[in-house]
Amino acid sequence: MPNILVFIEQRENRIKPASLEALSKATELLRTSGGTLSAVLIGAKEIREQADILGNYGASVVHVFADPQLETYSANTYARLIAETATSAGAEAVFFSATAMGKDLAPRVAVRLQAGIASDCIALELDEKKAIAKRFVYSGKLISTIELTSAIKVVSLRPNSFSIVETKTTRHETKLHDYKPEPFDLKTIVKEIRSLPGKLDVTEADIVVAGGRGMQSEAHFKLIEDLASVLGGAAGASRAVVDLGWRGHSEQIGQTGKVISPKLYIACGISGAIQHLAGIASSKTIVAINKDKDAPIFQVADYGLVGDALEIIPEFIAEMTRVNA
Ligand code: FAD
Repeated sequence: MPNILVFIEQRENRIKPASLEALSKATELLRTSGGTLSAVLIGAKEIREQADILGNYGASVVHVFADPQLETYSANTYARLIAETATSAGAEAVFFSATAMGKDLAPRVAVRLQAGIASDCIALELDEKKAIAKRFVYSGKLISTIELTSAIKVVSLRPNSFSIVETKTTRHETKLHDYKPEPFDLKTIVKEIRSLPGKLDVTEADIVVAGGRGMQSEAHFKLIEDLASVLGGAAGASRAVVDLGWRGHSEQIGQTGKVISPKLYIACGISGAIQHLAGIASSKTIVAINKDKDAPIFQVADYGLVGDALEIIPEFIAEMTRVNA
């Protein structure tokens, strides 16, 4: 079985759960073989304190690049450090989570390593010779199977598609590396990252509540936020409302927005256009609230409520508040 390197993504020195999913999947694949599982963690000085956590999820070696210059994400720098670590660790497979950052990095690392790549995978098998990955195509209507036979395989795993599993053996070695800047690292510089602190992203949430044009106005999105909050989930939106300026693009779900795979997706006042469905195909359970019984969203919904979202959602919130109390 090959050696695997997993890139561990962090935001404000906190490891993203999606990276633990990738690490857990790598642990599962290596369970019965002698391959080494390494992880690579890049960030500010404080990030080194997070290295021990990774041993709990199966990493036997944790490579840490902790430097003030690495605090802000840089595609060129991060890709170079990951590729160099993969080479020095003798990794035949490099895993990413298919987050925005993972999708940006994985192809860059694949080019550097002259590796084959499978992106946004929902299933994965791996042996000495090949990786077999499954991924959605044609807006989630079909699943394609990809076989990678290159010497090095780069794979990104769709968030929420693999379980996080803690391992019993927590012994691991942490290797601290010095960061030596190279001219190419400065080709692009990230000046600012705009994100709302503490806000759960739709790609990482177990529950997503999204609103569409049927919510009637920007003000009514307070209902979407309140329902998401009472369920412990994230708020999302269709493109129509993002185009109207009611919500930010970071919440847009669909072909030109984010692809989500939550355990529960609740679509409120969303018609279910094909471009929207492209982003929700791998949701485990879909609930639709729409006043038009013929809305296309009902064709993919597991549960449907025909009615006015502006009346149903407040009742839903009141009931959940009562249950949670
Ligand atoms: P509408 O289609 O207007 O639907 C509103 C729905 O709300 C209707 O079904 C109506 O019955 C219902 N409704 C109205 N009032 C109420 C009420 N009070 N209670 C309950 N239900 C009510 N769209 C995306 O979402 N994501 C994408 O990434 C995306 N990418 C695109 C890419 C391209 C290239 C193109 C051409 C389009 C893309 N679209 C995308 C747009 C897509 O085609 C639809 O226009 C959009 O999804 C419609 O949004 P909507 O369902 O909110 O609005």
